[in-house]
Amino acid sequence: MADDPTLFERIASGDIPADLVYEDDRAIAFRDIHPVAPTHILVVPRKPIPRADAIEPEDEGLVGHLFTVARQVAADEGLTDYRLVMNCGEGAGQSVFHLHLHLLGGRDFSWPPG
Ligand code: 5GP
Repeated sequence: MADDPTLFERIASGDIPADLVYEDDRAIAFRDIHPVAPTHILVVPRKPIPRADAIEPEDEGLVGHLFTVARQVAADEGLTDYRLVMNCGEGAGQSVFHLHLHLLGGRDFSWPPG
């Protein structure tokens, strides 16, 4: 039996509503439901890769595309400085096991992150 669709597959299919800011045949981007910055957007491949350490060589083009989408969305949001974050595993803060880039902007960020 096929796995249940992930939360982000359900958003991509329109089953769960989201504030979409970008979509194409490989990726979508939408506003995070619990923003931690004035701009907090998730860039998500349609392919349900669970986490960063499950990225295969065949996914390299797709993962590169996420960064191109993030750049476009950041420009559309008027951001020049921003942070891109990908959490891998619960201990690193991952809560949705469908690969995604956080695009955070609109405020200053400290380093190292908490
Ligand atoms: P993670 O913790 O896996 O790195 O990031 C998952 C993100 O998904 C979190 O920032 C969380 O707020 C966001 N999120 C969880 N459920 C939903 C939802 O139903 N809609 C939207 N737009 N974002 C969600």
